[in-house]
Amino acid sequence: MTDFHYKVEKKDTCTTVFLRGDLVNDVKPSFESLEALFETRELIFDCEALGKINSIGVRHWLMFLDRISKAHEFRFRSCREGFMDTATMIPGFTRNRPIESFYTNIACASCSNEKSVLVKVKKKKAVKPDPVTCEKCGNNMETSENFDDHIANLAV
Ligand SMILES: [Zn+2]
Repeated sequence: MTDFHYKVEKKDTCTTVFLRGDLVNDVKPSFESLEALFETRELIFDCEALGKINSIGVRHWLMFLDRISKAHEFRFRSCREGFMDTATMIPGFTRNRPIESFYTNIACASCSNEKSVLVKVKKKKAVKPDPVTCEKCGNNMETSENFDDHIANLAV
């Protein structure tokens, strides 16, 4: 049985699709039943709860995005690190649609404490997260990502 689920919330002219679970081998029927629910032109994919991604899952994902491209505008938000890594490795993973926000890891230079923070994208630039104080030792936690490159790579 598939571990992949979705929840659809329609609001005026935009539908938000909450994706949950793993993007792996058996996602095809889920995508087919999902796209049958789309009633608005505009779609937002919320990827907060998306888990692991494998190559067969990517293939079904791309076929799904291509099928809906003609009738829908779409963008992504709350993309997890795994999603961003895949998007960086596989050209066209987002079909060059905008990413509104994504998670990145920040780490404490003093005690190696790590956590994930949400980064918003504004005017095609990722807004670097505000400095976060490490709750373990009180030093600053910072990201090692180069944000300009990160977003440029994704051709938003
Ligand atoms: Zn620390």
